[in-house]
Amino acid sequence: MKQLRIRIVGGSLAGLFAGIMLQQAGHDVCIYERSKNGLAGRGAGLVGQSDLLHILRLIGCEHVARVGVVATERIYLNHDGSIAQTVNMPQTQISWDVLFETVESRIAPETYFLGREVVDVRDGDSGATLIFGDGTRETADLVIGADGLGSVVRGAVNPKHTENRYSGYVAWRGLIPEASLPMAAALLLDRFAFHVRPGVHSLGYLVPGSKGEISRGSRRYNWVWYRKVAPSDLAFTFTDLDQRVHPFSLPRGGLSNDRLQALRTDAAQTLPPQFALAVAVEPSPSIQGIFDYEAPRMAGRSIVIIGDAAFVARPHTAMGVSKAAGDVMALINCLASAVDLHAALQRFEVDRISVGREIVAYGRQLGTSAI
Ligand SMILES: Cc1cc2nc3c(=O)[nH]c(=O)nc-3n(C[C@H](O)[C@H](O)[C@H](O)COP(=O)(O)OP(=O)(O)OC[C@H]3O[C@@H](n4cnc5c(N)ncnc54)[C@H](O)[C@@H]3O)c2cc1C
Repeated sequence: MKQLRIRIVGGSLAGLFAGIMLQQAGHDVCIYERSKNGLAGRGAGLVGQSDLLHILRLIGCEHVARVGVVATERIYLNHDGSIAQTVNMPQTQISWDVLFETVESRIAPETYFLGREVVDVRDGDSGATLIFGDGTRETADLVIGADGLGSVVRGAVNPKHTENRYSGYVAWRGLIPEASLPMAAALLLDRFAFHVRPGVHSLGYLVPGSKGEISRGSRRYNWVWYRKVAPSDLAFTFTDLDQRVHPFSLPRGGLSNDRLQALRTDAAQTLPPQFALAVAVEPSPSIQGIFDYEAPRMAGRSIVIIGDAAFVARPHTAMGVSKAAGDVMALINCLASAVDLHAALQRFEVDRISVGREIVAYGRQLGTSAI
């Protein structure tokens, strides 16, 4: 296919994978990311699954996936902190930040724009138009929506179906230096630990340090506590100290001292003592709403949506990044082999829509037994 002018909305991993591979294929590509300061330094860890490893090879970044923190086994804790079950299931967590920074270094820097928020997109037969928050506009042969959970681009492809569906529970999260975990919780280290009983689900694992450190003492402990929240209480749950209501989460630093103390009290009563200690030493937990979204269509006439813009799966699947990588590789193949853009986008949708649906369904199934 001829060289296309392609504009990507969203500069996280889905947008970067797409941008790098499309630049490698010779297209004219720019990425617009709304964050003013960039995304580096804000992630934790992830499991390197096959589509991720594949795309990393294609963009020359396979070395990132070789460095991670290994959990040698899974343990299931009783409420009193004793081990109910041990499963031999080694798993490696790689650093999201190192992955992001390494991948970001492969995009041509003059084509990646921070602080550029897209507020609307218009589809057309021979191109699409981006409208930015400052009122400026830009046209492209193809617009790729890689703008995640709160995607504005998905609305141009699915005007009547843009809303994420709230699952009924949220994930409280903490990310603490390994060294701050009290000795009495040492059982948690080097293992993937769970505590699951009716209505209660918590887990935790080590991830690399903020700069990707994997040596003992310099790693971080990531804990997650899934908790039910009624839909009517969601706005309060996501209200920060400045009374701003966030749509999908409460970022770190947004929790009042009263709510922090209440969390610690609840954890001491509800969780095994090791997890309660991990919760107690986290000064700034965050809260992530758990949502599902399935796009009825992934392709319009000159627009396509990928990653979390198209399908939001629950975190139990640990497949967000891998799913984005799979979308991008399929899109590149379709653009390379189809006779025209329209045929490429239709073929891409056929290839990936069932994969997205299956992953969302799998996440929902895991979620049903999760809490
Ligand atoms: C800062 C950050 C940290 C993460 N840490 C982890 C982690 O530790 N472990 C893990 O498994 N997953 C993590 N994730 C999620 C994981 O990266 C995603 O599941 C994966 O990248 C696929 O999502 P995505 O790229 O489609 O969407 P996202 O990662 O959600 O990215 C969407 C991007 O689009 C931008 N955007 C949204 N709307 C607009 C707009 N209107 N105009 C311009 N830009 C817009 C957002 O700022 C964001 O950068 C993290 C994501 C982010 C953004």
